[in-house]
Amino acid sequence: MARERQHSPRLSRRSLLGGAAAGAVGLTAVSAGTASAAASRTVDVAIVGGGIAGLTAARDLVAGGRTVAVLEARDRVGGRVVNLKLANGGFTEGGGEFIGPTQNRIKALADSLGVATFTTYNTGNNLLYKDGKRTPYDTSGLLGSVPPVDAAGLANAAIVQSELDSMAATVPVDTPWTAAKAAEWDKQTFESWLNANAIVPSAKFLLDLACTSIFSAQPRELSLLYVLYYIAAAGDESHAGTLERLTDTAGGAQESRFVGGSQQVPIKLAATLGDRVVLSAPVRSIARSGSAYVVTADGITVNATRVVVALPPPLAARISYDPLLPAARDQLTQRMPMGSIGKAIAVYDTPFWRADGLNGQAVSDSGVVRSTFDNSPPDASYGALMGFIEADEIRAYDAASEADVKTAVLADYANYFGDKAKSPTSFVLQRWDNEGFSRGGPVAYAPPGVLTEYGAALRQPAGGIHWAGTETSTFWTGYMDGAVRSGERVAKEVLAALG
Ligand SMILES: Cc1cc2nc3c(=O)[nH]c(=O)nc-3n(C[C@H](O)[C@H](O)[C@H](O)COP(=O)(O)OP(=O)(O)OC[C@H]3O[C@@H](n4cnc5c(N)ncnc54)[C@H](O)[C@@H]3O)c2cc1C
Repeated sequence: MARERQHSPRLSRRSLLGGAAAGAVGLTAVSAGTASAAASRTVDVAIVGGGIAGLTAARDLVAGGRTVAVLEARDRVGGRVVNLKLANGGFTEGGGEFIGPTQNRIKALADSLGVATFTTYNTGNNLLYKDGKRTPYDTSGLLGSVPPVDAAGLANAAIVQSELDSMAATVPVDTPWTAAKAAEWDKQTFESWLNANAIVPSAKFLLDLACTSIFSAQPRELSLLYVLYYIAAAGDESHAGTLERLTDTAGGAQESRFVGGSQQVPIKLAATLGDRVVLSAPVRSIARSGSAYVVTADGITVNATRVVVALPPPLAARISYDPLLPAARDQLTQRMPMGSIGKAIAVYDTPFWRADGLNGQAVSDSGVVRSTFDNSPPDASYGALMGFIEADEIRAYDAASEADVKTAVLADYANYFGDKAKSPTSFVLQRWDNEGFSRGGPVAYAPPGVLTEYGAALRQPAGGIHWAGTETSTFWTGYMDGAVRSGERVAKEVLAALG
């Protein structure tokens, strides 16, 4: 095993509070390293990316007796998970925040770090806003969380949902491209399948909404096979994935939240790794040198026997590789775009909608925000409405001024929750498409033809370069849980390779 060496100048240690990006909550508990000019290290494994996947891989590699350096481009850890400061001294979550049943690996990680969960506020009625009309509805009824559209639409949507679940049950989560009907399903978009199956307009509305809410991509952009794989992945080794588990709050992926915000998980995980984590170190190149690799980031060079790249595929493609990656791997990364997503959080003195019997969860057929949640803290010391701005909606607003986005968002919130929603005490906007080291979210997805042609390259190491990140997970790909699973899998892979 290589001994970890640091050459002068020694990497500086500091609290990350001062270095955190504007608005991002600082990592007071962590004292990680920052890249300084001409630093270099020699370790067993260089890990590119300090998101949940990269940090989990580091944890397991260190536990396996290996030396690591985690190179993170941003001045904070957590990647697609971030706590953002509020003017009232609180914070809100700008990226991934919810966890739910069968997401066992993120739960185990949070438990191990002492990060507790609480139940997403879900008391009172949901709200459907359709054709300009507000319809509150009770999710404890027969329909569960399905918005109450017309009877024909509900019947059609139920058939479509059951059909999707049955098709997904035939898709192996580790090799979706080997499903018996993989070729047929991967040559069509989800849109073309929905057009043939969700024939009642209100059923198509429900399925379109589910699609944009899950992927932050329009049905026309996604391979049907990829959608089925994603549904199959919404479970664990003993529970088959279902569409309902993806969309539901109670019993589904939105069931719980983290006390202190989801970024507590990567912050506390990074703290256990100390100055093995190097911030503000975007990796520019990975070059083979004899039997090892030279990983060059801004301000630091790491020599390593193995490299783990824990980035979404399109961002991994922005690194230069020498020798070139196998063609199939590069073609894969050329074909998996990030979804388009923003989050808008309006803060109020109180969660006033609760007094109106509403739980803050609205779905809509119009507006810039078409899906909302009550994002108030567990003690409800203030109120927060969080809205997703997804796919075509955020694309239309990627270049807009924050003031214009705010005006559009608050108009939607007023339609859903009344005029009080027009006067928040503060407003936070996070546009992931404009984030340099994410360029969208929540996940890099597969359009038609990608999984069957290039899916096998998702996890296939390229020499001593191994791939992690939620996109490589078999269960809960696209989610924090998938990120943890991918980190655990890649660490096993690398430990086995190192012998
Ligand atoms: C708005 C939004 C809402 C979401 N909601 C949920 C949710 O409710 N529940 C859930 O489970 N999941 C949710 N997700 C998804 C979840 O956040 C991700 O699946 C997960 O965080 C991915 O972790 P990762 O480590 O695989 O990747 P990332 O978090 O993307 O980590 C990659 C890291 O690599 C860094 N990086 C990029 N390029 C370089 C480079 N060249 N050199 C060095 N470092 C680099 C990035 O800065 C980043 O820190 C959401 C995501 C978004 C954006």
